[in-house]
Amino acid sequence: MLGWSINLFRVFGIQLAVHASFALLLGYFAYEGWSEGGAHGASWNLGLIILFFGCVVLHELGHSLTAMRYGVRVPRILLMPIGGMAEFDRIPRAPKAELLITAAGPAVNVVLVALLLPFVWQDLWSEIAVPRYGWEMTLINLTAGNAVMAVFNLLPIFPMDGGRILRAFLARKMDYLKATRRALLVARIAAPILVFCAIYFLEWYLMAALFVFIFFAGDAEYRTLLRREQEAAHWADWNRRMVLERAEAAGRFDGGPPPPPVIYHGPN
Ligand SMILES: [Zn+2]
Repeated sequence: MLGWSINLFRVFGIQLAVHASFALLLGYFAYEGWSEGGAHGASWNLGLIILFFGCVVLHELGHSLTAMRYGVRVPRILLMPIGGMAEFDRIPRAPKAELLITAAGPAVNVVLVALLLPFVWQDLWSEIAVPRYGWEMTLINLTAGNAVMAVFNLLPIFPMDGGRILRAFLARKMDYLKATRRALLVARIAAPILVFCAIYFLEWYLMAALFVFIFFAGDAEYRTLLRREQEAAHWADWNRRMVLERAEAAGRFDGGPPPPPVIYHGPN
């Protein structure tokens, strides 16, 4: 499903792509603008959605560029109607690295809010209503959108940013897999509640879809992690046996002590 995408351009060597379903989102916003304000409304609505997803790309670049400093390969950033996804070949196991990589995304949104706020400050406190379509309203919407993105992503629902931060904190006190299971447990309880709230109280179906996606994405990531862990254990065991066999062979000649066992911290 994630394969139905169109490549746009490369930024810092990362391929930026949009999912085919993005066309539906653009169509929806264009239609909404058109029905309220004709061609004028449609074009301002489309402009807003493109600028907003520009901010989503900057958020993903925050994660990606920090990850690249830790040697992570980032082949692609994919934009979907429910948000952006940066594809990493692995996630560093060190809690500090994961914490910095994760926090960098929402931090970008906080910086954007701080940069936009001076431009919209007067309009926010003004008695005169800002026209529905135009630069002023677009900047107000972008400021609000970035503030929501920062807060929203920090919800402790794994694998959202807040959930990853929660896992990184848990992983300082316990085994990495156990920390992931704990974070996942919080997400399994919170995500269905939020799906319910999004549908019945907010009637915000895109948000409901996002939490359904998050619910399954957490499970999928845990399974990948478990598989990698088993593979690593297998190869560590294989390596230990090879070392022992070689030590035994060496022992036949000089009777020296076997070399210390090699410890592999990998592949993740
Ligand atoms: Zn993020």
